[in-house]
Amino acid sequence: MVSCLRCDKRAQASLAYEERPLCREHFNRLFQDRVKRALREAGFPKRGDCAAVALSGGKDSAALLHVLHSLAERQGFELKPILVDEGIAGYRPACTKKARELCGQLGYELYETSYKELFGTTMDLAVRSAKRKQEGVFTPCSFCGVWRRKALEQTARAVGADCVVTGHNLDDLAQTFLMNLLRGEPLRRVSLLGECTSSGSLPLLKPLLYCPERECGLYSKLNKLPFHAGQCPYVVRGLRHRVRAFLRELESDFPGRNFALLGSLRELQEKKDLRKVSARLKECSVCGGPTPTGLCRPCEYQRALAP
Ligand SMILES: [Zn+2]
Ligand SMILES: [Zn+2]
Repeated sequence: MVSCLRCDKRAQASLAYEERPLCREHFNRLFQDRVKRALREAGFPKRGDCAAVALSGGKDSAALLHVLHSLAERQGFELKPILVDEGIAGYRPACTKKARELCGQLGYELYETSYKELFGTTMDLAVRSAKRKQEGVFTPCSFCGVWRRKALEQTARAVGADCVVTGHNLDDLAQTFLMNLLRGEPLRRVSLLGECTSSGSLPLLKPLLYCPERECGLYSKLNKLPFHAGQCPYVVRGLRHRVRAFLRELESDFPGRNFALLGSLRELQEKKDLRKVSARLKECSVCGGPTPTGLCRPCEYQRALAP
């Protein structure tokens, strides 16, 4: 039996950058400490705050809710899990089922909403419409991402939350940052790390930013959390796919690259004056949301992809 790096118990979690594996308890502690650090750095949620936790039904947001659940009472904040149904037949229902199970186990009511309800369409319809009208112009992930962000903001406000918390992990952020660099826009989404948001919108937090994807899966498995392991059928084999494969290979040969990318992003963000970005925002003529032009991206996509 291999014993834990920190105690005599059986080791269950091997980490690429630790010389010896950890037992369940010590792995959990490490994972939870990373989440605590991210929350401390973000300065949210504050005591008395209500945080809307975006659940997808996958391993990341399951781990997120589980850790926050253990912190909420001690740190004096409230949690409201929310779920956005994109309308993807054959995928979403299985994920939603797991998210409901998780909420049942931890004793939360799950607030559910959908693209249908908020935008009058579904991903299945919008993808068909994109193919018909704008062949190749819009990739499903681009409009889904924009709509999800707006849906989370609206739903979080509807449940009375003070901030939105999402399950983006270290790998997700490293990929997005490297993609931005490859596009020549290093700070394309200034909210990448979560602290900075456009004026008027709720603070968006990513407490798993120090948690590698593999460890989010490990956390959910070791703690027997219900999650759906399937992949969205609309994932395109585009730039993100290539970047993900590249970083995975790099990380396995040279562990710590994702952490290094995160460090570079943080340094860049600190140098850039982000106030200028939010000062330039106007109000969307349709929904009133923040936008650098007269029409926000969610509304633009809604108009272009109407069924
Ligand atoms: Zn141990
Ligand atoms: Zn709008």
